[in-house]
Amino acid sequence: MRLRNVTGSREAIAKSDYVIHNPQECQGKWHEIFGNDNPVRIEIGMGKGRFITELARQNPDVNYVGIEKFSSVLIRGVQKQEEDPLLNLYFIRMDAEEITSVFGTDEVDRIYLNFSDPWPKDRHAKRRLPSREFLRRYGEILIPEGVVEFKTDNSDLFQFALEELEPAGWKILQMTKDLHNDMQMMQGNVMTEYEERFSSKGNPIYKYIVTR
Ligand code: SAM
Repeated sequence: MRLRNVTGSREAIAKSDYVIHNPQECQGKWHEIFGNDNPVRIEIGMGKGRFITELARQNPDVNYVGIEKFSSVLIRGVQKQEEDPLLNLYFIRMDAEEITSVFGTDEVDRIYLNFSDPWPKDRHAKRRLPSREFLRRYGEILIPEGVVEFKTDNSDLFQFALEELEPAGWKILQMTKDLHNDMQMMQGNVMTEYEERFSSKGNPIYKYIVTR
């Protein structure tokens, strides 16, 4: 993602009530934070947040947490929340490597990865969000029947993600190499910013849903 420095984004995020500022203190307490027992679903690498904001709007009985590393993009999601708040949505600015110190065992029922950065160099493979290293982290926080949903237009990253499943002990529930022409998997699809951009260029969108 091309990042522009958005003036004041760090300060605005630091002041926002819709951003969790002490995420490590929330481990094991997410139901208390939301004030209900509804399931908790997270998006890692949410960018400007259109996807998770729309899911939160459509599903008031589900709790959502959007995670993003960079203030300069997260600020867009935060601004939308400030303008038109949803009670079932919070954001965290952090690197997903720390995810197991923010969510406890069985606290999350679904994880969304959308158009994750490809990190094309082999030596950076561990940074790819669908890598076996990240799958191990996801396994620590997901309920036993919890799932990871991953969408991308990058065929190399998707192939890598598929090859990581068996060594990590995960299995495919659903998979398509052309989401927008797959009527079944397209049901209820919420487009992300990147999905709109790449599908409008004619790129096929790959998606899997996996579980342990
Ligand atoms: N999901 C959005 C979409 O589909 O439009 C944005 C996709 S963008 C290519 C990937 C985003 O993931 C970037 O905003 C990047 O900062 C974020 N990201 C990448 N690695 C991350 C990590 N380890 N932890 C948190 N965010 C990360």
